[in-house]
Amino acid sequence: MPIATVNPATGELLKTYDPMSDAQVDAAIERADRAFRQLRGTSLAQRGDWLRAAADRLDADRDEIARLMTTEMGKTYAAAKAEVTKCAAAARFYAAHAARMLADEPADARAVGATRAFVRYQPIGPVLAVMPWNFPLWQVMRFAAPALMAGNTGLLKHASNVPQTALLLEDLFHRAGFPQGAFGTLLVGSDAVDRILSDPRVRAATLTGSEGAGRSIAQIAGRELKKTVLELGGSDPFVVMPSADVATAAEVATTARCQNNGQSCIAAKRFIVHTDVFDDFAREFAGRMSALRVGDPMDETTDVGPLASERGRDEIHEQVRDAVERGATVLCGGEKPTGPGWYYPPTVVTDLTPQMRMWAEEVFGPVAGLYRVSSYDEAIEVANGTAFGLGANAWTTDPDEQERFATDLDAGNVFVNGMTTSFPELPFGGVKNSGYGRELSALGMREFCNTKTVWVG
Ligand code: NAP
Repeated sequence: MPIATVNPATGELLKTYDPMSDAQVDAAIERADRAFRQLRGTSLAQRGDWLRAAADRLDADRDEIARLMTTEMGKTYAAAKAEVTKCAAAARFYAAHAARMLADEPADARAVGATRAFVRYQPIGPVLAVMPWNFPLWQVMRFAAPALMAGNTGLLKHASNVPQTALLLEDLFHRAGFPQGAFGTLLVGSDAVDRILSDPRVRAATLTGSEGAGRSIAQIAGRELKKTVLELGGSDPFVVMPSADVATAAEVATTARCQNNGQSCIAAKRFIVHTDVFDDFAREFAGRMSALRVGDPMDETTDVGPLASERGRDEIHEQVRDAVERGATVLCGGEKPTGPGWYYPPTVVTDLTPQMRMWAEEVFGPVAGLYRVSSYDEAIEVANGTAFGLGANAWTTDPDEQERFATDLDAGNVFVNGMTTSFPELPFGGVKNSGYGRELSALGMREFCNTKTVWVG
């Protein structure tokens, strides 16, 4: 993929970049390595001040940064502004809580025959972050804030379609006060990842992206014996049971499916509805989906902007066509618009069968699959009948069912009666082909720490 900004609302090529040479990449790795030696010796208070300065800059420049993100990947301007604000809050969260998360943890010294025994969390060095375009600021911040607070340095290989946001991030941390090289952007294609991760100075990698990219990076990291955190795709179930408030569930379902123009890993993608409330839910959901306003992402009244790439739009349209050809029913949407920009209408498809691509694949756009089930057990079977396990949503007011869903859903995140989202206070990650490891909370910070046992006799 060329490294370039192409406006998804118009298809216009706005800016291109030459990929960095091997020598330029090596120099950036050297800077990250040198910055690590410096950063690990600084105090948490100092790093917290730098991170808070980065948060202040995000707040001050919110509108400008949001406009850039919208121009590069098509999310609505309103969503982009909210993303900038969320990043500032996460930076402040880690600045405030890192000392507690990284404090030595005393153990029972007597039980291990010591006078003192404890666990100490220490940084490990430069970490390669391979990131996607869908939340171009947030995905990076949720890695960078805890990593920098822990004393690690970061090397960002961002998605090739968001180079200006990638450069902005390097500038953000540097201007906030972090040492030169503490957070560097590598403008390279995915073919450069093997060489970078093989460099002995790079100690670990985190990837947020597709399953294919995850397999590739895990293979390289396995060969090099390096730690990885993988945040991959999802096909999140959204289960509606008879006791649920169907109108509220349908309203949240619409937001959950179409947030970020349908391009979120934790977007609800498969709507699994009990037969007792299926018809009510289907009517309400399809009505709300078709009422969404699709259009210019800079217009404040737009609900759904364009998809980030022409390839992405073609892919979801092919998935819909495949389902229709094999007998599925389209309740709304499903037609690819003509004209400039990579728009796609909010779409609901039902009567799905396992022979259809939509049954098994992640659908990365505003297209919902609607499934009818007749019992709790069948709902769990369909919900878990996927290779993915990122988030899961259940709608029920029955306390017994709430408890069972929390246990039975194979997912890294289960949200009951509310939309799946991420918070700095709670761990985030998946199981099965959605990846491994956790981001956010103290767990996310410790993924790239040496958890060192110290025993003193
Ligand atoms: P993608 O194609 O995998 O790209 C993500 C990043 O990986 C980009 O920087 C890309 O670089 C790089 N990449 C791609 N193939 C690679 C390979 N073989 N080796 C090394 N690097 C590689 O994913 P995407 O289409 O941008 O993003 C959508 C996917 O990300 C969806 O599956 C979505 O569910 C997932 N996602 C997951 C989470 C989560 O938290 N679990 C969050 C957001 C998105 P180039 O751009 O240069 O190709």
